[in-house]
Amino acid sequence: MKISNSASSANKFTKLLKFISYSVYIILQCTWGIVQTLAGFVYFLISVRYPHEFYHGAILTRRKGIGGVSLGLFIFANDNNRNNFSDKTAAHEFGHTIQSLLLGPLYMIFIVPESMLWCGLPFFQKLRKDNNISYYSFYTEAWANKLAKKFLHEEVTE
Ligand SMILES: [Zn+2]
Repeated sequence: MKISNSASSANKFTKLLKFISYSVYIILQCTWGIVQTLAGFVYFLISVRYPHEFYHGAILTRRKGIGGVSLGLFIFANDNNRNNFSDKTAAHEFGHTIQSLLLGPLYMIFIVPESMLWCGLPFFQKLRKDNNISYYSFYTEAWANKLAKKFLHEEVTE
């Protein structure tokens, strides 16, 4: 009886800690990270017909036509029937949401433009392909993976 009581209070304590950490995460994304959270909210409205889920405090939308995008509170990851790749992408994108917490509005200056150019410019695509350079070697991506591993203890795409 005593053992199950203490197990149940430990469980309650874990749930309370989770509730507090998610609340802090959401409040920070909606204040310090408000610039990218607002941009994410607009993209969320555009993507409203796709499935959404709660993901470690963030709102994850699985949609077609993208690899992964992270804007404050909102994560958008490819659909792919929730295979291993898309789960690893979601974890990687969660790392970007931690960058948003750390950098606040600077996220839109030091992460978004650089990672968009690194991802989308044909020059960088060719550079990566010709020299066999990992997409995740660029500082915005390597840092996101490091944060994802630290906070989620999950595998990420590398
Ligand atoms: Zn990334």
